[in-house]
Amino acid sequence: MGNLVDSNSDLSPYRPLDAVYEAISTHSKRDDMVLHAIGQSVEGRPIYAVQIKGTSEPRGAVLVCANIHGVEFIAVEVALGLLQRAAEGCSRLKMLLETVDIWVIPTLNPDAYDRTWQQHGRGVLAELRTNANGVDLNRNFPRPSDAKTTWLTFGGWRLGSEDPANPFYRGASALSEPETRTLADLHDRVDFIASANLHSTMGTLIQPRVLSRSVYKQYGRLVNAFRRGQTRWRYKRMANMWFDRFTGEQEDFQHHCHNTWALCVEHYPVWVKLGRFWPMTPLFWRFNPRDPAPYIESDSDGILSYFECALAMPRPNDVPHHKAIVFPGT
Ligand SMILES: [Zn+2]
Repeated sequence: MGNLVDSNSDLSPYRPLDAVYEAISTHSKRDDMVLHAIGQSVEGRPIYAVQIKGTSEPRGAVLVCANIHGVEFIAVEVALGLLQRAAEGCSRLKMLLETVDIWVIPTLNPDAYDRTWQQHGRGVLAELRTNANGVDLNRNFPRPSDAKTTWLTFGGWRLGSEDPANPFYRGASALSEPETRTLADLHDRVDFIASANLHSTMGTLIQPRVLSRSVYKQYGRLVNAFRRGQTRWRYKRMANMWFDRFTGEQEDFQHHCHNTWALCVEHYPVWVKLGRFWPMTPLFWRFNPRDPAPYIESDSDGILSYFECALAMPRPNDVPHHKAIVFPGT
């Protein structure tokens, strides 16, 4: 591992996949944490979830799921930062743990994480974002059978693409990939009340597509709670009841198939350090801040505030006037 670190010191202070696994394993030795090997990637790398056990019975569960897109290393650091907080006895975390277990998946896409590291963070989006089959895992979740495609394509951005060369390629069929099936299996076993899905690099908070105004409003409350919790950058809500589409994203699946409040968190806002968008900048540094520490701190506070707010709410299907959407095959 020492050699790996040396040969990639240009990605410092980020760490190679081995060191991510090592951090997971170190935390899991604590009495209040349980390590679950929940699945494997296309290339056979393990996918881990760490369960931080709550202190009362019975209790629910919330989920932090990071790095579905390989190049987005900052998401892994925020997820590991939450485990670190738990280890340090953070009082807000302790309060949450009185009613729920907190599950943390530091990387759902270890193949692309490792590929990004091996390539020194250089490459095109289609290589560093997708899994080993070239699939954008965040477009590989089920969609309702009547999901419409739209003229708003933007090369697949936010919508998914049928083209295997596109960085937003959605795969041969829903849940065709072992990584997305791993998450779906975990949802079958554990009833998550809320999920925070960690990404980069927009500075936005993206909610699922919902059809009822009452549920849409609840998401407004959740987003505001997140923003109020943030001590530095306040991220922007990205939602539109009329123009959004079902594109096979994780949040839509979690909300509509598993009755889970779900937010996509895009760390490292575009408006910070605009110089990173120069064509010469390696892809890695467009997605990851040179100093992750302030994001780990500010965005962890946002995540905790979001969870606190979600736990004080009814579940999505219990919100008055909610409209159910049927996803086939789930
Ligand atoms: Zn992402």
